[in-house]
Amino acid sequence: MFNKIIAALAPYEAKLVAVSKTKSEDDIMRLYDMGQRIFGENRVQELVAKAANLPEDIQWHEIGHLQTNKVKYIAPFIDTIHAVDSIKLLKEINKQAAKHDRVINCLLQFHIAKETTKFGLDYEGAAELLQFLKDNPMTNVRITGVMGMGTFTDDMDQVREEFKTLKSIFDRLKIDWFEKEDSFKEISMGMSGDYPIALEEGATMVRIGTLLFGARY
Ligand SMILES: *Cc1c(COP(=O)(O)O)cnc(C)c1O
Repeated sequence: MFNKIIAALAPYEAKLVAVSKTKSEDDIMRLYDMGQRIFGENRVQELVAKAANLPEDIQWHEIGHLQTNKVKYIAPFIDTIHAVDSIKLLKEINKQAAKHDRVINCLLQFHIAKETTKFGLDYEGAAELLQFLKDNPMTNVRITGVMGMGTFTDDMDQVREEFKTLKSIFDRLKIDWFEKEDSFKEISMGMSGDYPIALEEGATMVRIGTLLFGARY
């Protein structure tokens, strides 16, 4: 399945975030030995424990909702944080990254699904955050793109519309805020059930767990 997914991503030059939450270090190493280097986790405690035991050239991504008080635990090593949806969180990431003299990549999470329970910004909220960042530059965070989760549904037309929405938000942000910044380039969308659609709609990064590792219990 790994090779099949890699082959599907290739024409789009999209990256695979292998979502290893709840899976063992042996499971991770099996994919690592096949060449995979980007792994995504959502629980901070689990992420910190795995990172301590596994090879240093793994690029760890925090993909879940992140509480401000947990940022300090991952700041020494995290490559990318996918779910940034507040100024408060961004400030804390900047502060903790500075302590380690690092720059942490951040994706702005947008609310694109119909479900009301999911986190994320709307365009106005993002504009407010980016204006704050313009007025108060933060040297230890880099906004590298956007992230979203489609509705959990079998209705693939709906999911496609949601992915189109995220792509159009990205395009608009690019023009309004990041015209000259090449580092703003990532669209993180698509999971096991919908990644082919996400790729068609412009994903540069897909987050896949179940298809790679089997079901989580
Ligand atoms: C768990 C998770 C995934 C992966 O989901 P699968 O359906 O197992 O591929 C992707 N993104 C986020 C934010 C997740 O929490």
